[in-house]
Amino acid sequence: MAHIIDGKAISAQIREEVKTAVAARVTNGHRAPYLAVVLVGDDPASASYVRGKAKASAEVGIESDTLTYDASISEQELLDIIRRLNDDDNVDGILVQLPLPDHIDDRKVIDTIDPAKDVDCFHPASVGNLVIGLDGFKPATPAGIVELIQRSGIETSGAHCVIIGRSNIVGKPLANLMLKRGIDATVTVCHSRTKDLPALARQADILVAAIGRANFVTADLVKPGAVVIDVGINRVEDATRERGYRLVGDVDFDAVEPIASHITPVPGGVGPMTIAVLLQNTLMAARST
Ligand code: NDP
Repeated sequence: MAHIIDGKAISAQIREEVKTAVAARVTNGHRAPYLAVVLVGDDPASASYVRGKAKASAEVGIESDTLTYDASISEQELLDIIRRLNDDDNVDGILVQLPLPDHIDDRKVIDTIDPAKDVDCFHPASVGNLVIGLDGFKPATPAGIVELIQRSGIETSGAHCVIIGRSNIVGKPLANLMLKRGIDATVTVCHSRTKDLPALARQADILVAAIGRANFVTADLVKPGAVVIDVGINRVEDATRERGYRLVGDVDFDAVEPIASHITPVPGGVGPMTIAVLLQNTLMAARST
């Protein structure tokens, strides 16, 4: 039986720490940290993520506004908005909810954000700092995973961490975090072209699944006693649910849980951590101004 890593509880702990630090800053005469969230278009999923971020910010005393623009906004107009936010000393953090409409180049928009306000840690300067091991903004989901691992008392030094998935938001930044001095894991990153992925996965002391395929990680991919972190969020049909589906991860939880030492559930594992790290980053942005 694995220890179930409780992402809701650990995320609540981090949010409480941020709340205490924000209150202390305000008591010491600073203004509250301020996060500008930019939302373009009316994608319901994006709108829901943005509402979650605004609510979580308010709960810890971070002020935020969601600047909402029609999907028809031009790339130039959006870049000008970002530049104005860059120049505004009252704005500590800037977050542009992705994806953007097709006529807008996500990369150009991210590259325009002042790296000192890049609380999503997507700017090349932030990614560069991460790769060379400098302190700075943390990539939200990967740093959330590291918090889960460390706050669960799991030894990372010398551990073999196998990450399945090489995306820019999960796999690659997580590999860099796990390699950092002080964390000191040995890292293998797998992807769709990896040869004999099951054999590599079975070597993992810490196995991270960030693929986006339900039940990809079956019991035969897991070494007994491994730590299993499930990043995946997949919808599977479920007629017993009112909405007609339920959310599952990339790991076959029922089969893997009995052999793992620790495992994250979906939902309630990695998911709640992303916003917690965003709040940490916004506090860090406010502290650096
Ligand atoms: P991407 O689709 O960007 O990346 C998926 C990765 O999985 C790619 O590197 C891909 O390889 C690899 N992959 C796909 N199929 C296979 C296969 N058959 N064998 C080996 N590797 C494979 O996804 P993301 O990283 O953005 O997200 C991954 C999952 O995590 C999704 O379910 C997403 O919803 C979830 N997620 C959850 C978050 C949270 O807060 N909990 C945050 C972010 C994502 P290749 O590069 O070769 O194509």
